[in-house]
Amino acid sequence: MSAPLLDIDDLTIVFGGGRGALPWQKLPDVRAVQHVSLQIDAGDTLGLVGESGSGKTTLGRAVLRFLRPQSGSIRLGDFDVTGFGRGAPVEYRKVVQVVFQDPVGSLNPSMLVGSIIAEPLRIHFGMDSAAARERAAELLTQVGLQRHHLTRYPHEFSGGQRQRIAVARALATEPDLLVLDEPVSALDVSTQSQVINLLERLQRETGMAYLFIAHDLAVVRHTCRRIAVMYHSRIVELGESDDICERPAHPYTDLLLASIPDPDPAVQHVKSQRRRELAQGVAGASGRAPIDSCPFAERCPHAMDVCRESFPEPVATSTGGTVWCHLHTSGPMLGGRPVSELATRPEACQAVSTSPSAADG
Ligand code: SF4
Repeated sequence: MSAPLLDIDDLTIVFGGGRGALPWQKLPDVRAVQHVSLQIDAGDTLGLVGESGSGKTTLGRAVLRFLRPQSGSIRLGDFDVTGFGRGAPVEYRKVVQVVFQDPVGSLNPSMLVGSIIAEPLRIHFGMDSAAARERAAELLTQVGLQRHHLTRYPHEFSGGQRQRIAVARALATEPDLLVLDEPVSALDVSTQSQVINLLERLQRETGMAYLFIAHDLAVVRHTCRRIAVMYHSRIVELGESDDICERPAHPYTDLLLASIPDPDPAVQHVKSQRRRELAQGVAGASGRAPIDSCPFAERCPHAMDVCRESFPEPVATSTGGTVWCHLHTSGPMLGGRPVSELATRPEACQAVSTSPSAADG
């Protein structure tokens, strides 16, 4: 079996808290990413999903080497990313590119589109102006725009068109990995599907791998073969997209799925009921879980004492994925089965936590 293209191993990123309002105050450190291990094969797509503040964008920025982790390692192809000195070498900037959520902020408003796309061609391939312009026109065509758009400024385009320009610029270096950081979140629904279709077509044509970062499970489900669910700095579930979305094993994944609106009123009714049940656990949550606990413990309707004392070990799910949840280690009734098979009532969890085998284990 060949080595994965991207190999993230036991990565931890901590931001210093800095000073408070008073001179002697020191704010606590923020653990943005804790002990994360992920792999992506060449030409494959991994969706990284979680709500705002989960650490998913920080993880993407570490892969891009915009910041340096405290511990763990990142390897992309032959590059030891965490071994770089102060910054990434220019060769690394060629093999990994990024498309940000906001195409307005990521495209220089004072440059013509032709110059924006030609810039990486000159830096990485040493092309002269004429060759770079010709290649830029080809790239624009590849993303569904036209040659005459080379002489326009970014503000002359719609949001979807600007995102196509950002994709064309990223494609210019022929990268092995594209980090897509919420690439469709700022777009309306019909433009979202156009950009997603474009990304899927480009991946088939070029064989690039994608790290697709999003807060919306519905968006990544149809784009990514595998999904990693992240909550408060930790990966809590990892598996094939269809398995994660149809038979989630982690209560937080279950909550994310229940939050996706459904056009069918009957399905929506069931989802709303499920969301209300899950939301009962939110009451009283302070958002400051102890470092070594399950970060979802304050919101989880299934939380047990053990959840507040230790972060769970990984468990293989019945669908071939991995889940980090004590429900699957502290009770004989689960063992990696979908969380929907467990009653949501807290007393059911109490029974799990006090079962003989839980006590033995
Ligand atoms: Fe976390 Fe425990 Fe809930 Fe699992 S059951 S998500 S470990 S609080």
